[in-house]
Amino acid sequence: MNKYIDADELKEKIAQQKLLSREPATKRIVEIINSLPSTDVENRGEWIEDCYGYNHCSKCGYEMDHMEEVTPFCPHCGANMEVSE
Ligand SMILES: [Zn+2]
Repeated sequence: MNKYIDADELKEKIAQQKLLSREPATKRIVEIINSLPSTDVENRGEWIEDCYGYNHCSKCGYEMDHMEEVTPFCPHCGANMEVSE
């Protein structure tokens, strides 16, 4: 399970650390943070298995009959699914 944090808040915290923010390495780290793509955290969901073995989208309740066809997105509402291996 990934931990999602607010990149802007992180950069603000770094900027508040006077000595740290002057370090060239810190500037490089902030560049790396800026270069990362953002993740659609708002629209994340997961497949929840019910007692009958069917999987439901945690966002819209869509029922997935065939788990072998599981997609990284809910086919009904498009929620981004955390698909664990
Ligand atoms: Zn859904």
